[in-house]
Amino acid sequence: MPGFEKFDDAERKEVQEVLETGVLFRYGFDAARQGRWKALEFEKAFSERLGVRHCHLCASGTAALSIALAACGIGAGDEVIVPPFTFVATVEAVLFAGAVPVFAEIDETLCLDPGAVEKAFTERTRAVVVVHMCGSMAKIDALSALCRKRGVTLIEDACQSVGATFQGKALGTFGRMGCFSFDPVKTITCGEGGAVVTDDETLYRVAAGFADHGHDHEGTDRGREGHPFLGTNFRISELNAAVGLAQLKKLDTFLAIQRAHKEKLVERLRSFPNVTLRQIPDEAGDSATFLSFFLPDEAAARKTTAALAEKGVDGCFYWYDNNWHYLRQWDHIKSLKAPARLPIMLVEPRPDYHSVHLPRSDAIMGRTISMQIKLSWTDADLENRLDAMARVFDEMG
Ligand SMILES: *Cc1c(COP(=O)(O)O)cnc(C)c1O
Repeated sequence: MPGFEKFDDAERKEVQEVLETGVLFRYGFDAARQGRWKALEFEKAFSERLGVRHCHLCASGTAALSIALAACGIGAGDEVIVPPFTFVATVEAVLFAGAVPVFAEIDETLCLDPGAVEKAFTERTRAVVVVHMCGSMAKIDALSALCRKRGVTLIEDACQSVGATFQGKALGTFGRMGCFSFDPVKTITCGEGGAVVTDDETLYRVAAGFADHGHDHEGTDRGREGHPFLGTNFRISELNAAVGLAQLKKLDTFLAIQRAHKEKLVERLRSFPNVTLRQIPDEAGDSATFLSFFLPDEAAARKTTAALAEKGVDGCFYWYDNNWHYLRQWDHIKSLKAPARLPIMLVEPRPDYHSVHLPRSDAIMGRTISMQIKLSWTDADLENRLDAMARVFDEMG
């Protein structure tokens, strides 16, 4: 990761084709666009790649989450179980849907723990948003079985895990809807973009409509199209879709590079007794955008993070102190600070996020370091990195 490391003529050509027609809008203008439909083409290719019936390409991964929640009928006062380790967007989308985030513990997969999710269910639980963090996966089989049993909607936030699979099936295709991000730092990028996928045609239609002011997209005259329901504008432009189309064709190459790099890192890490690897339910399906590992305790993890930085091993994240990815540092979310009053303010009793206590997640995140796996590393880069890491871990004992 990320895709922006590998831009070339392929992206330029796709974008140029859009600029030549001047049609930047994804709908209509049939004559002027000369058969160029970049968003549509991306949606077809992405559905095929994932083995899912429908895809709607949209403005961002955050928009994808909002679209999925809306299409699945999640709204005012509904409880949605989410992990405390994710990018803030997952929680924002739930809050702006008018729903109530309920945090449940993660396990050593760094994703929601099925047992903890079960304990977090109440009569108001309407959905679980499982986040496949850092390129790998949650125990998605257990989570889908649990949600099916309880009649609760499962939505997958696979924004960080495009191309990853569990037992051969693409992440994002286990829940009622799956969400992806193609923002500038994701595995493949549109510049800005996102997607929702589903096997359910009705959900797809609602999703595509909701992302475009409720349009039914039937007929050829946009001005005369029906609006079966309200929506908003979460559309992507043809320029962004064009970049994404070129990147999508490189996805398998990117995955192969990442996996090869990861294998070399893992091989070396296994020889250090104080380092244990993140649990990965299906190793073969890991997209290998990150290598995540545990140190024995928080003090060792902090020390190691500092030592790695000092030895020039860049791209290592200690999420426990990071402002974007772990609940501990999210004061603005815990205080529900928004420019305007949020619907959750009307929920009785109002949830108190300052008192959320997740000791198991704290213990795991306090020990976790994730190393970003770059596409652009040369063999020499990788050797230098391995040597520097070995020095750090040797010193740690
Ligand atoms: C990046 C990301 C998002 C949001 O995607 P954007 O395209 O940046 O809006 C949502 N969830 C997770 C887990 C992400 O990493």
